[in-house]
Amino acid sequence: MLIRKTDTEMIRGYFEDSSGLSGGFAEEVVLPENEKDVSEFLEEASAKGNFVTVSGGGTGVTGGRVPFGGSVLAADRFNKIIDCFEGGIIVQAGVPLDEIHRAADSIGYFYPPDATEQTAWIGGNIATNASGARSFKYGSTRNYVKGLKVALSNGEILDICRNTVKASNRGLLSVGKKKTAIPNYEMPGVKNAAGYFSKPGMDLIDLFIGSEGTLGVILEAELELQKKIGPLFGCFAFFEDENRAFDFVAELKKRASRGFDLLAIEYFDRHSLALLSKKYPNIPKSSTGMVFFEQEISPKIEDSYLEAWAEILDSSGVGESNTWMADDAKKFQELKDFRHSLPELVNETVKSRGIPKIGTDMAVPAENFDTMLRYYREHLEQQQIDHLFFGHIGENHLHVNVLPRNAEEAKTTKELYLKFVKMAVSLGGTVSAEHGIGKLKHDFLKEMYGNDGIMEMARVKKELDPACILGLGNIFPKELLF
Ligand SMILES: Cc1cc2nc3c(=O)[nH]c(=O)nc-3n(C[C@H](O)[C@H](O)[C@H](O)COP(=O)(O)OP(=O)(O)OC[C@H]3O[C@@H](n4cnc5c(N)ncnc54)[C@H](O)[C@@H]3O)c2cc1C
Repeated sequence: MLIRKTDTEMIRGYFEDSSGLSGGFAEEVVLPENEKDVSEFLEEASAKGNFVTVSGGGTGVTGGRVPFGGSVLAADRFNKIIDCFEGGIIVQAGVPLDEIHRAADSIGYFYPPDATEQTAWIGGNIATNASGARSFKYGSTRNYVKGLKVALSNGEILDICRNTVKASNRGLLSVGKKKTAIPNYEMPGVKNAAGYFSKPGMDLIDLFIGSEGTLGVILEAELELQKKIGPLFGCFAFFEDENRAFDFVAELKKRASRGFDLLAIEYFDRHSLALLSKKYPNIPKSSTGMVFFEQEISPKIEDSYLEAWAEILDSSGVGESNTWMADDAKKFQELKDFRHSLPELVNETVKSRGIPKIGTDMAVPAENFDTMLRYYREHLEQQQIDHLFFGHIGENHLHVNVLPRNAEEAKTTKELYLKFVKMAVSLGGTVSAEHGIGKLKHDFLKEMYGNDGIMEMARVKKELDPACILGLGNIFPKELLF
């Protein structure tokens, strides 16, 4: 049975996420128990033109689940693992990521997309096409979604299996009883979570992955699991000379392209380390940059990997005392906690200052990464506003966080962000590699796909959700729909 909650005090928590976007409100939060509840609720909402924002775990950072009117449809009661078997798991949309990891682990498998925030729900991960530190090797959530059960806004439920419905040569895609032409823009050739997926011959399932609650409500997913890999070796290498850290990253990438089995390559700059040292005073004092990498220890390298790494690190100017290594579960958890502390500390700083930060999510093609980094640096250092860089350098995807202290800095920060976006787009990059667009990055998406591209997305949305009730204000302004 559908539960409806209207007491504002009780439902206030659903009006926010981890973006800090304020002002959210809704008349009610509905908590369906089963597909029939969802289907009937959406059919009625469509008939009445009642807006519906879909809510997952609320860890999104772009305001996607923050409602501005209408109803919130929360997946809280869709929290069951339906089946877990060799090579796969079938879960409802409200199952948290950490439960999926535990279930997979219990049968000797793992779920490769390792998005950092484990309290996120799988419906949210799919709706944003989330990815994590190991996307260097495994890619994003999209690669592991084999099947989806989705409710369209008219209440129709679709069971979509990958490789069963593909766009025709003319770009037409059957979506249940409807048909739509896929958007006619070209996506950048980098890690990407910005706007609707579109590729010639694309699979229907990919239209819903990353659609941020605007095209349908994800109810259930079949995900691919992989056999647990052998033990891992992880290392945080602290560099005194930042340029040597970048040379080291280049060396790691070169080795990875020659078959060296690296899962992740991440970078934390000196400002990230300074913030972290409040919680971790044991960070080597003279560090100006830190590279994190992970490697699978196959039986072939079992006896030699430590020696090999010692040699590589030594020739890169990193002595043993400037490395933190992990080769068992406990130490790995410590490294993971350390890594996860950074976004948390940033969020605490932002909260204490009471002024929103900007957190970029751009990725650019490898050949343009140095240009992008130089551009960020020059502008930020010139303005002298608190900032830090961290993230997925292996995929040329660094998060730049800028933390203004006052209104004037906040204004400059906003202007800077737009400059960064324009630069990333001009270099062939994306404005969002993993967090999505939500309600905060419309203008950036427009830089990437132009007005025509945005109107293409609005067209697809209107064809699939003619009453335009789902996820209003996500990906593009709702005004484009009415
Ligand atoms: C500390 C921290 C670290 C993070 N690290 C990462 C990271 O490493 N990688 C990464 O990609 N992200 C990261 N994020 C962002 C966030 O965890 C992801 O965007 C995540 O996928 C959001 O999932 P959620 O369940 O919390 O979704 P919500 O925040 O509840 O919703 C996100 C969007 O998905 C839509 N949605 C949710 N459920 C459904 C559904 N069932 N059907 C249709 N639409 C739905 C919502 O409408 C909204 O638009 C991080 C966030 C924090 C706070």
